[in-house]
Amino acid sequence: FNISTILERLHINAKNDAFSIGGSTWGSSAGATVKKITSPVDGKVIASVKMATTANYEQAVNAAQQAFTVWRTMPAPKRGEIVRQVGDALRKYKDDLGRLVSYEMGKSLQEGWGEVQEMIDICDFAVGQSRQLYGLTMHSERTQHRMYEQYHPLGVVGIISAFNFPVAVWSWNAALAWVCGNTCIWKPSEKTPLTAIACQHIVQEVFKQNNIPDGVSCLVIGDREVGELMANDARVPLVSATGSTRMGKAVATAVAGRLGRSLLELGGNNAIIITEDANLDMALIGAVFGAVGTAGQRCTTTRRLIIHESVYESFKQKLVKAYAQIRIGNPLDEHNHMGPLIDADAVKLYLDAIVKCKNEGGKFVVKGGKLEGAGYESGCYVKPCIAEVENSFAIVQHETFAPILYLIKYKTLDEAIALQNGVPQGLSSAIMTNNLRQAEQFLSYAGSDCGIANVNIGTSGAEIGGAFGGEKETGGGRESGSDAWKVYMRRQTNTINYSTTLPLAQGIKFDL
Ligand code: NAD
Repeated sequence: FNISTILERLHINAKNDAFSIGGSTWGSSAGATVKKITSPVDGKVIASVKMATTANYEQAVNAAQQAFTVWRTMPAPKRGEIVRQVGDALRKYKDDLGRLVSYEMGKSLQEGWGEVQEMIDICDFAVGQSRQLYGLTMHSERTQHRMYEQYHPLGVVGIISAFNFPVAVWSWNAALAWVCGNTCIWKPSEKTPLTAIACQHIVQEVFKQNNIPDGVSCLVIGDREVGELMANDARVPLVSATGSTRMGKAVATAVAGRLGRSLLELGGNNAIIITEDANLDMALIGAVFGAVGTAGQRCTTTRRLIIHESVYESFKQKLVKAYAQIRIGNPLDEHNHMGPLIDADAVKLYLDAIVKCKNEGGKFVVKGGKLEGAGYESGCYVKPCIAEVENSFAIVQHETFAPILYLIKYKTLDEAIALQNGVPQGLSSAIMTNNLRQAEQFLSYAGSDCGIANVNIGTSGAEIGGAFGGEKETGGGRESGSDAWKVYMRRQTNTINYSTTLPLAQGIKFDL
């Protein structure tokens, strides 16, 4: 693994610019703050980035607005063709980009590549979608009138992304927003700007070859202040924001204050119900991968297991045994199951959560803690842990972005569903059962209240073909597949009169 070769191939230098509006235009203001980006894998500095100023943000918005007037006139299937080429370019860079995702963010190499694959998949999906931006036609109540609806592009779409899926979430938004005729400004997480810079270079290569004007894809590196500028900016009709519920509430309030549109993808508190009729071997794989995959830093991470009392003890033993086999270490080594948390702050939040859980009466059956010593020099490696708890504990109601798994016992399915729904978040949920009645009840109107509800699959991971998102404090947004494209467009109803008179609706007479 030679990081300098990978950085070179992805056009990352020692000091990267603060913003890009496409073409070869990158820049930053004189005296811009420089931030060192450190890998949680080994604690080494990967590169530095300059932080954007308000003036840089303005440059991006102006370029995106100007480009919109050109991009929207290109037929949607032609825009789809550009996105197809972006997908091909991502195929070309998959290995390098996947490695950088893994090194900058700390997820396993398999997951780093998986994330780039997800980007490729959404590009393919968007290409098809570019020929399917369908509206409906309706029958008019007036004679010789035609009525239909159509979808038009919105304008500049702002994308705020989180560190844990540093590139895939952007592509879910950008690929669809582009085929819909919008231009995009991306503000990646300040914790993972390098993968974002790499993506912008990849897109730029394609856009340049096709003479696409600057401004269709803009990147602004910065922390929450840049996100706040976007949320408050009436020139950005849609802000798509992924991150914590705290961030989502701030963005939603600002965007609503100007009656703009927001698409929110926020925290989860996902549970698997393990019934007395479950295949426990399948349940074990789903639970362990869901809880420790990405070191518990997925929005769909399994945080709670709600287990039927008749299988509770035996399943707990299986879990304890499985956790003893988890190998923690450098995520670029495919031998390891679990890598580090993103930074020292995340480790502190994890340790604080363990203390809070104990104080509320939680009983740890697999103990947690920070790992020290050889291979753990970055200070970001922790042990995945398991605690027996009550669903009502304040810490259980809260999303801790770390590998802490809570066990809760239940007697009846009604009770299990109430426990599953009994948290403020509503992203992903699952039931493990071979009983059709139980599965159907879980999926019914009286079942899970989440945006994602699975049977005999864990909570973690989703395919791009479905609409992705959740209810309640998860924010209500939907991205990726199904009809998620509609949020990136404005709907217009059109009525055309091809008669020689002007009849009014509802039979109203207005004679002159
Ligand atoms: P975060 O909320 O700290 O930051 C996310 C992004 O929002 C960053 O780019 C940050 O700079 C920006 N931001 C922060 N405060 C802001 C504000 N007031 N106004 C505008 N922008 C602001 O989240 P994080 O730690 O990077 O990511 C982890 C969180 O993201 C978890 O809660 C996780 O569940 C959630 N997440 C959700 C999904 C989903 O699809 N539902 C996907 C990935 C991550």
